[in-house]
Amino acid sequence: MAERRKLSNWIGGERRPPVGGQYLDDFEPATGELLARIPDSGSEDVELAVAAAAKAFPEWSGRSLQERARCVERLADMVAERAETLAGIESADTGKPLALAKEIDMARVEANLRFFAGAAQHWPTEAHDMGAAGLNYTRREPLGVVALITPWNLPLYLLSWKLAPALMTGNCVVAKPSELTPLSADALWEMAFEAGIPPGAINLVHGSGARCGQALVDHPAIKAISFTGGTRTGRMIAAAAAPRLIKTSLELGGKNPALVFADADLDQTVTGLVRAGFTNQGQVCLCCSRILVHENLKEALTQRLADAVANLTVGDPNLPDTDQGALISADHQQKVLGYIDLAGKEGGRILCGGNALDPDGRCRQGYFVEPTLISDLPTDSRLHHEEIFGPVVTIQSFASEDEAITLANSVDYGLAATVWTRDLATAQRVAGRVQAGLVWINGWLVRDLRTPFGGMKDSGLGREGGRWSLEFFTETKNVHLPSGF
Ligand code: NAD
Repeated sequence: MAERRKLSNWIGGERRPPVGGQYLDDFEPATGELLARIPDSGSEDVELAVAAAAKAFPEWSGRSLQERARCVERLADMVAERAETLAGIESADTGKPLALAKEIDMARVEANLRFFAGAAQHWPTEAHDMGAAGLNYTRREPLGVVALITPWNLPLYLLSWKLAPALMTGNCVVAKPSELTPLSADALWEMAFEAGIPPGAINLVHGSGARCGQALVDHPAIKAISFTGGTRTGRMIAAAAAPRLIKTSLELGGKNPALVFADADLDQTVTGLVRAGFTNQGQVCLCCSRILVHENLKEALTQRLADAVANLTVGDPNLPDTDQGALISADHQQKVLGYIDLAGKEGGRILCGGNALDPDGRCRQGYFVEPTLISDLPTDSRLHHEEIFGPVVTIQSFASEDEAITLANSVDYGLAATVWTRDLATAQRVAGRVQAGLVWINGWLVRDLRTPFGGMKDSGLGREGGRWSLEFFTETKNVHLPSGF
């Protein structure tokens, strides 16, 4: 393996090997081959990273908004110029199709950076006039050193979604990407200093969640933790943050329903559900993994959907015709197959897929699972309630709107929902009744970066996007001036 594939941490603008000298393996999901070795960082590495960030804070937070925006905009330009290379890195590290990595992931990284560079400059501050009693004005101050912890499914997409608002509001950052997908963050860091972000303003530590991630959330100088990942990890982070009374933003798991009413446009719905169920091999927190369909439409929808899903091309992420790449790891592949196995035992009917897949050629040892649709499971099946986070979608039917809402809201999660109907009144009523932070009518993943993004119930706490991200990364201070001053 080439030496350049042995990653270092980025601390104070420099590559630093882990203090303990230990490394973790990073595998390529599509081939099962070793891709890189990454630092198995611990508390000593985190200590160095936090110290570097704290040292950089006065200078970075003292820069004007326009100066900070120029750096973030330059980074966006560089991402756009190198999108092809970055997409290749992301696709190799995640197993997702190369085309998806370019069209969705890298396009969004660039958009995140540009959006927050602009949004922060257009963010108004408030004033409350008391007339003769004076004037209040509200300041928004950076927090200091903040921790950004991200998952493997959309590595740079989600890291840049946190990095851009954190930087634009004047904070310094210690980031920890998933140990399963460390490569794109390393590439971004290399570019960031070239873009003019000062050494120390952004620091990157690699390692496991239990060791490196936990050391970061436990560090007393960390002023806020922005976390995206699983609900179990989110709870541990909330518990670590609570005694220090620091802010946490928790974007967690989902078990998102698609509610399909009898009057839905079948063509539009089938196309939408294939996207909503199987994009990125079903490994998007927003994926709709539960289809709830009116009993009158069930047969027609099921048949059409099974045909469409069976037509998806699964295989080498590098091939232009590939719709579905590999799952993230051998363990995750086994977890997903375990749920399919359980479905069989519970009397579920596999309508398409249901197996691991070994494509020919270089991907023979990759972690592939066929896109799978399952119906006829009991209502209390674990497949209807637990987040599988893979290419497995279940179908249930309902007889009334009330029953649809009961089924939709029967899970612990509350991240996203889609509603498929031609009737505006039904759409609006159901959107109001479903327990989810995000609802799409006759569509999925139509994103506007100004809107609040996040979930209710076990799907998280807080919202990201637009002013919600900017508010999260700042402390509010009110100043009163007496009149006539
Ligand atoms: P995960 O919770 O296992 O890991 C996420 C990150 O947390 C990783 O960087 C990991 O190393 C770190 N981590 C793990 N234990 C830690 C600890 N004790 N202290 C600090 N950090 C720790 O999640 P994952 O498997 O990487 O990602 C999949 C999950 O992420 C799914 O549940 C998915 O729904 C969720 N997700 C949510 C959103 C959203 O916006 N709501 C977006 C993408 C993914």
